[in-house]
Amino acid sequence: MSIELYIFDCDGVIINSAEDIASAVNVSLKEFGYWQIPLEKVVEFVGDGTEKLLLRALKFSTKNKFDENSAYGKENFQKILDFYLKYYYSHAVEKTSLYAGIKELLRALKEKGKKVCLLTNKPEKIAEVILKKLDVLEYFDLITGPDTLDENGEKIQKKPAPDGLEYTLRKINSKFGTKFTAKNAIMFGDSAQDIQAGKSFGCKTVACRGGLGNKGLLMAEKPDFCFSVASEIEKFIDILSKDDGVTGMEKYAMKNEVPVLQDAGSDFIADYIKNHEIKNILEIGTAIGTSSIRFAKIRDNIHVTTIEIDSARYAQAVKNVESEGLKEKITLILGDALTAEIKGKFDLIFIDAAKAQYINFFNRYSPLLAEKGVIISDNLSFHGMVEDLSLTHNYSTIKLVKKIRKYIDFLKTNENFETEFFKVGDGIGVSRRKKLH
Ligand code: SAH
Ligand code: MG
Repeated sequence: MSIELYIFDCDGVIINSAEDIASAVNVSLKEFGYWQIPLEKVVEFVGDGTEKLLLRALKFSTKNKFDENSAYGKENFQKILDFYLKYYYSHAVEKTSLYAGIKELLRALKEKGKKVCLLTNKPEKIAEVILKKLDVLEYFDLITGPDTLDENGEKIQKKPAPDGLEYTLRKINSKFGTKFTAKNAIMFGDSAQDIQAGKSFGCKTVACRGGLGNKGLLMAEKPDFCFSVASEIEKFIDILSKDDGVTGMEKYAMKNEVPVLQDAGSDFIADYIKNHEIKNILEIGTAIGTSSIRFAKIRDNIHVTTIEIDSARYAQAVKNVESEGLKEKITLILGDALTAEIKGKFDLIFIDAAKAQYINFFNRYSPLLAEKGVIISDNLSFHGMVEDLSLTHNYSTIKLVKKIRKYIDFLKTNENFETEFFKVGDGIGVSRRKKLH
């Protein structure tokens, strides 16, 4: 079944809203004379809707003395809830931002004709205001929250109930005349509730570990796939669009949160190998062997040497290479490419490991390049952020993007190498020794 319906949770998946939620909670507590609580606590309380969030905050703030069942507690709780909703509604996007690559992902999904929906446990109206302010509202075909009324005018049960997903599917089918089933849908969440909802509905599920939800509880639900941020699914949209999309190693790679090369980038390098006299390849960053295996299969006389720092990925690569019968053609090395001692002359060196170290990798391995060899570097565009840094507000992503820019400058001004840049896949550079005059 091809995946056509992409359904996202809001907080911790689309938006990083921790600080604004925490300050709205604390302003509300203060207003009613309760103690403030730390941000991490508020984050822990998110995921089951606003009432639960506030109740947990009140209990924590009062060391469990707050009694929502007493007459006073009931009345007071309603007042705090009203205050909170009003305050949060008008202060929802002070510090809140989109996660890295989200806008790109939404754009790509729409370009490929997919349906995009939001299913959140926060009020629909607030979610809508936030998405609008962050300039992504137009990408959503439907937004559903606990205050959304269904076809019978009744409020929809919150996640982990599957009701919101069932409603989403019905709505999309009636709106677009499609005949999608749960099998055409995929649910993204950062909390156990999201994965539970997806499982009871019967769709594929993706855990976003970089969100706000408790990671242990999240993973305990055994999501089908797992990423740090939702935008990592972008390179799999085409695969997921096929009838038997998710198979073999890709399946493994997604489950294990292994970054695999974008199809277009891998195609480019494979073509390069086909069209040039390439025999010896050195790869920095094996992951689980996907690209090594692909390159080794191109011709009988090709040999790939590849290095990986992560022992679990290395172990999986060993298995994959063996099961492909390529032991003779691929030398797998477990180690840190910054310190490993590799010998030999290579016609192609493919740099595909930690982006922040690209200059060091280049300097360390360029002496091993054969006279007419090339060094190919991947991910030089980094989801478009290298060209347009405003696509992210995430501090560590910005730092990384700046390092990639520095690497590009290093290549452009290099005395011994000249580099051609290609806008394929996630951005590729092909560097050759300059001709001596
Ligand atoms: N070439 C692979 C994908 C590699 S992903 C493919 O297309 O299928 C990048 C890999 O580089 C990760 O698995 C990561 O663990 C590894 N890596 C990061 N830093 C490294 C280092 N210093 N030495 C060796 N491997 C490294
Ligand atoms: Mg969430």
